[in-house]
Amino acid sequence: MSHATNFFLLILLFIVGQWLVKALRRHDAHTAQRTGADGARGAADKADNRNGAARQSGAPQLAEPMIRCVECGVHAPKSDSVVVAWRGILQRRACAAARRATHGPRRSMSVEFTVDADGWVAQARKLPSPNVEARPQGAVPTLIVVHNISLPPDEFGGTAIAELFLNTLDCNAHPYYDTHLRGVRVSAHFVIHRDGALEQFVSCNERAWHAGPSNFFGRERCNDFSIGIELEGSDTTAFEAAQYDTLSALVTALASRYPIEALAGHADIAPGRKTDPGPHFEWARLQSDTALADRYFPYLKFSKTP
Ligand SMILES: [Zn+2]
Repeated sequence: MSHATNFFLLILLFIVGQWLVKALRRHDAHTAQRTGADGARGAADKADNRNGAARQSGAPQLAEPMIRCVECGVHAPKSDSVVVAWRGILQRRACAAARRATHGPRRSMSVEFTVDADGWVAQARKLPSPNVEARPQGAVPTLIVVHNISLPPDEFGGTAIAELFLNTLDCNAHPYYDTHLRGVRVSAHFVIHRDGALEQFVSCNERAWHAGPSNFFGRERCNDFSIGIELEGSDTTAFEAAQYDTLSALVTALASRYPIEALAGHADIAPGRKTDPGPHFEWARLQSDTALADRYFPYLKFSKTP
């Protein structure tokens, strides 16, 4: 064949190729539109993932390709997935773990805490408080009590909470300390600061002094059988997302280590005397973050209507 013929064939191949690509795209778009119309009749079963995305956006040509996560089965945008080797072949994975790996930490499950045999959380800053005693014979933690605290009241940051629990607070440093905290001996197992940082003052195996006179459905002395968690905050301010993240990870760890049966606010077990954690604490958020069943939240009013 002559050079001219070769050249002509090449051009022809290119044109046919272009036409084929366009035809395939038209077919895809057409299928997407038809799927949108027939979606309710189950045509979606046959449609591929891209058509699924097209149905949602209503713009088939611009829809982001969708993939099905090989591990958890969730449908997700292709850009939100990673390629992994799966049983010898390369597949796309889009579950939380994969997203974490590519996009950095997301929400609560990115934090995981462990409680050692002595009742200390490995990831917490350990500040042993002298305000502690053994739990009564046979008592184990079955209740988690959520509090709020800020020192001075409604002021965040600083080290006053830790100093209070360590009996080193200078009560001349603020009129509130002078009036209310002189000689006070208290502690909680945990403090969660505004940035989510976790401090532990008392082993979970021991009794901290956080609840005071209290009653959990007829059972007095809640310190005997509870773990106290203080959120740095007040009754007038919303808590930080980082605090919910730490709290849910902590509750999850405690509930898997101890026979926890319920969570309560300090106000629930000491009504009339205490108001914390206050109206800004989102119990439903904690439940959602921890995925604990309704029975763990006996003071929450659950709506039966969706
Ligand atoms: Zn309290």
